[in-house]
Amino acid sequence: VIELGQPEHSVITTCAYCGVGCAFKAEMKGNQVVRMTPWKDGKANEGHSCIKGRFAWGYATHKDRITRPMIRASITDPWQEVSWEVAVGHAASEFKRIQAQHGRDSVGGITSSRCTNEEAYLVQKLVRTAFGNNNVDTCARVCHSPTGYGLGQTYGTSAGTQTFKSVDQADVILVIGANPNEAHPVFGSRMKKRLRQGARLIVIDPRAIDLVNSAHVKADYHLQLRPGTNVAVISALAHVVVTEGLVDEAYVAERCDPKSFAQWRDFVAQPQNSPEAMEAVSGVPAELLRGAARLYASKGKNAAIYYGLGVTEHAQGSTMVMGIANLAMATGNVGREGVGVNPLRGQNNVQGSCDMGSFPHELPGYRHISDATVRGEFEAAWGVALQAEPGLRIPNMFDAALEGSFKGLYCVGEDIVQSDPNTQHVAAALSAMECIVVQDIFLNETAKYAHVFLPGASFLEKDGTFTNAERRISRVRQVMPPLAGNGDWEATQLLANALGYPMAYTHPERIMAEIAALTPSFAGVSYEKIERLGSVQWPCNEHTPEAGTDIMHVGGFVRGKGRFMLTQYVATDEKVTRKFPLILTTGRVLSQYNVGAQTRRTDNSRWYEEDRLEIHPHDAEERGIRQDDWVGIASRAGQTVLRAEVSERVQPGVVYATFHFPESGANVITTDSSDWATNCPEYKVTAVQVSKVSQL
Ligand code: SF4
Repeated sequence: VIELGQPEHSVITTCAYCGVGCAFKAEMKGNQVVRMTPWKDGKANEGHSCIKGRFAWGYATHKDRITRPMIRASITDPWQEVSWEVAVGHAASEFKRIQAQHGRDSVGGITSSRCTNEEAYLVQKLVRTAFGNNNVDTCARVCHSPTGYGLGQTYGTSAGTQTFKSVDQADVILVIGANPNEAHPVFGSRMKKRLRQGARLIVIDPRAIDLVNSAHVKADYHLQLRPGTNVAVISALAHVVVTEGLVDEAYVAERCDPKSFAQWRDFVAQPQNSPEAMEAVSGVPAELLRGAARLYASKGKNAAIYYGLGVTEHAQGSTMVMGIANLAMATGNVGREGVGVNPLRGQNNVQGSCDMGSFPHELPGYRHISDATVRGEFEAAWGVALQAEPGLRIPNMFDAALEGSFKGLYCVGEDIVQSDPNTQHVAAALSAMECIVVQDIFLNETAKYAHVFLPGASFLEKDGTFTNAERRISRVRQVMPPLAGNGDWEATQLLANALGYPMAYTHPERIMAEIAALTPSFAGVSYEKIERLGSVQWPCNEHTPEAGTDIMHVGGFVRGKGRFMLTQYVATDEKVTRKFPLILTTGRVLSQYNVGAQTRRTDNSRWYEEDRLEIHPHDAEERGIRQDDWVGIASRAGQTVLRAEVSERVQPGVVYATFHFPESGANVITTDSSDWATNCPEYKVTAVQVSKVSQL
């Protein structure tokens, strides 16, 4: 631990990395953080933390921080430092010029989980009022948008059903496409504690993650499927539940829509969904599928599902989320402690950015833009007419840019060049735009294509709220003043005013008051209450306890009767061929966070200095590849080079890479293939060739 002296005072705030949302005490000397310690009263972490959060403060004052607004006429010109007034005025006049020349829908905005709830709300409000369209999207497009769709269709709302502490009551834990030890470490520790107490474990993952077989925890079943066959596996589990009398008939009769259940039951009972049939598709032995289904559906036991991006980032991501939701309903595992369906949100406020209406089709609180009554409430409050048609999603913005109809982008806290798939496609789309405004703390990869740079604030400079993966709304408190003079909400407000839509908030608390007034699931949320109770969980209103809702769907689903959805397995278009014979899948490591923009600028870099490619010994030997060799990876989209990690964690035919460093270019090789319902990219399945590189 690097300590810079004895602290003089401290501020309680919330970690800005993963969706656990740990509370921290930032201990200060003057305006300088001297250390961060996990807060014992934090409800999500109860005094625990991981090495990401502990060192997070290091990037806030890193020398790479940009603290002055900048503009340039073209992306080949050098940046010129200017005042806030000049930068914002230039951005506004460019957006107005573009809309005058190319139409109202030629510009849009992107929010992210780097935004607080209040900041995300303001960005989508700016797009809908000042731009006058619905071209707003968020980083959830590339991670958990299928969760929103799938859980919305089946249960009626887009959120995890439990609190983290609910896992303490689970008898059977099913982990699908998630690696909580690395990506959600504090919750991962809590899960392991429960497993050490005797809970049974099923892991569905193409790779042998630590949970499968570690010193303290062993999975009862590891269903090591071929990447891209999740739906085949969930269908086989459902088949066993239906054909072996494991359905919780009383629960289904009381809680679920009978017609959809009957259709689903008949569908999954068909022989093509049997474990034997799905063994041929997924590569998972039928007896393991049968055993895992029987264990998950054990009568009288609490079975809880936790899933991650290994579920959502597929061409059938939304289908798989619905398959998971079906299985939990059929076995009566929704609506009490110890059970449920729990998406492990990867980023600190990805839940919140979705809740705040950062979608082209939804206003805050997941209400469809086409609903005239809801739209009318916002029109009355905001004083403008809103468009009823959904706007463009992020990939649609790129396509429209290449077609020449989308010309201007306001991008807050999201590095789309590094995060989104098929980097060449993204770069070409950005190059075709006429005004890109990037608001961030560093000159990220996207800023290379920007014309205006507005310096953002790190989490230590923010006042507001984050919402974690258990719907818990916690305060982010300002530890130091914004280095650039303005916070992110103030920058958005300046831009809205320059565009001609007046905003005059004096503090994020006023923004939250507006959110609460316009969003039924947030009606009972206030800063005063969060200060008093520590945090609250949405839904939080006159129908819930004062601190909101810890377990959802108790006694009934949000949509009324739970709805079963048919989940037909369809093979992805991303097929292996002789030219591209291996499947690449991707994931995270403990010490790095996402694209690494923050963790690479902290002491975390000491523990993981480069991305690597895991390759099975058979595949390595076939190609003459040895440990630590440099290897070339080529896909239909592009190519990159990584160092080899020869490992039996991956099965033959599958390679695995992390994506924390821009140099490794993981997204140079991922393709445009995406989820059919939400356009969430299929990051987890890319056909590749791997070969030894003799010289770099
Ligand atoms: Fe907690 Fe996640 Fe931050 Fe680690 S990265 S301290 S688990 S919120």
